[in-house]
Amino acid sequence: MKAVPVFLYHSVSDNPPSWIAPYTVAPRVFREQLDRIADSGLSVVPLRRLLAAIHGGPPLPERAAVLTFDDGFADFYWTVAPLLSDRGLPATLYVTVGAVHPPGGHPSGSLLPPAPMLNWRQISTLDATGVEIGGHSQTHPQLDTVYGQKCADEISGCKQRLEEALGHEATAFAYPHGYSSPAVLRRVREAGWTSATAVENKFSSAADNPLRICRLMVRSDTSEQTFQNWTRGLGARVAPISESLYTRYWRGYRRLRAAIGSPVGGPPQS
Ligand SMILES: [Zn+2]
Repeated sequence: MKAVPVFLYHSVSDNPPSWIAPYTVAPRVFREQLDRIADSGLSVVPLRRLLAAIHGGPPLPERAAVLTFDDGFADFYWTVAPLLSDRGLPATLYVTVGAVHPPGGHPSGSLLPPAPMLNWRQISTLDATGVEIGGHSQTHPQLDTVYGQKCADEISGCKQRLEEALGHEATAFAYPHGYSSPAVLRRVREAGWTSATAVENKFSSAADNPLRICRLMVRSDTSEQTFQNWTRGLGARVAPISESLYTRYWRGYRRLRAAIGSPVGGPPQS
């Protein structure tokens, strides 16, 4: 199965707030990574092309990659979009609707700490220029630790809010923190999202689960060598993967901590 790197970025900035710094790439490094992708012969395709291939539609180019950005940081508008547009590269931007600037303008709010976030006007402009706008929940909870109506609101309410703002359907969802569960997947499907991206730090492929697409997270400490390996299809496993015992154990632990009012963060190491 051909490895498809689906790169996950957060902020691209020289001056990020400290809480997001480990997940932030400097603009100079980001430009180098885009050059590396081009030099390696990868074709960057829209997420929907990967989805179509997963559903048995037209095959992907021989070597394909996808670019995704989580949370909705303002630097996407000022820094990322111009660089992508110069190179003619498609991307999907997943917006936490309760974090859209100005904060507090929407009753859902957000669990994300303060940071410069996109506003709805910028999001509409990006949408009009061809960036795919996806959903990333209302408040950015660990969805596999919230239940019932609250979980439904995070998944369906986010879609409704996004579609009101964009004036058209939104179909791409990304799990906050990458966390999901079989019950969360079912809610995502029932809400009408047709794709959902996780983290997993593995390559995706045409055999991946459309509601749990594997991504590779690019962090501030991602070395040049690691990134170069990823562009060559090396250094990570290829989806499909089954949920490991470790992932199930880790979810149980996070649920317990959430239940006693002391949630833990951080991605699972598997
Ligand atoms: Zn996020």
